[in-house]
Amino acid sequence: MSTAGRSAGGTSTGTADAAVQITDLHKSFGSVEVLRGIDLTVAPGEVVCIIGPSGSGKSTLLRCVNLLETPTSGSVVVEGREMTDPDCEIDEARRSVGMVFQSFNLFSHLSVLDNLTIAQRRVLGRDRAEAERVARANLDRVGLGERGSAQPSQLSGGQQQRVAIARALSMDPSVMLFDEPTSALDPELVGDVLDVMRGLARDGMTMLVVTHEIQFAREVADRVLFIDGGLVVELGPPADVIGNPREPRTREFLARVL
Ligand code: ADP
Ligand code: MG
Repeated sequence: MSTAGRSAGGTSTGTADAAVQITDLHKSFGSVEVLRGIDLTVAPGEVVCIIGPSGSGKSTLLRCVNLLETPTSGSVVVEGREMTDPDCEIDEARRSVGMVFQSFNLFSHLSVLDNLTIAQRRVLGRDRAEAERVARANLDRVGLGERGSAQPSQLSGGQQQRVAIARALSMDPSVMLFDEPTSALDPELVGDVLDVMRGLARDGMTMLVVTHEIQFAREVADRVLFIDGGLVVELGPPADVIGNPREPRTREFLARVL
């Protein structure tokens, strides 16, 4: 289970012990309703893999959890803090949620170590020594303990993505969001990134993972959420949703990707 216990602050609503509670979440862009009422409660230490067709709202859902998108209505509560409360201090709230994107978004002009220390120092106010200690521990965790002085361009895509994961971890998030973290990688580089994510799951990190790696979802997820047209079509253990899907739409999707 997670090593949570970080101070929550803000308004406390929802299921008291949930890591993430999403309630009746709607998101429209103009007249297009992309999320049409999503409910999801994620327990501390739980791994939920989100699968679904292109355009179904997977990225929008993740982006609403850390408020990269502002929900049109509904609520998102992370460790007791209502992100969607207008009084919520958004920058502070966002710190509790780490995000890893398909494109690694490293600062190309900074060394690997500086990529990991800059936000710790600027946002968390850690001094250089402390930030570097945390950075090195997280580089070790993703198997790149020796590469702190490298420039991102000297690393493979898979290594860069592992740096991006270490960078997110260095902010001590209580939840990690992954949006197709291996989709931009050459096939031979995917395995190392998935191994790092497996390790995080084993260590009890709460994770929401959008992925097309169905085998990974089957092995690592506690639950799989199949989303289509902005609605949760099916949610349950991988043995059910992937192994024995109930809904025709889930079956059709899996037949296409498996
Ligand atoms: P997925 O990640 O499942 O492929 P997205 O969440 O990225 O789907 O997108 C869902 C739908 O919302 C798509 O039709 C997309 O075009 C639309 N959409 C996403 N972001 C925006 C935006 N910023 N402005 C307008 N439409 C958007
Ligand atoms: Mg997407």
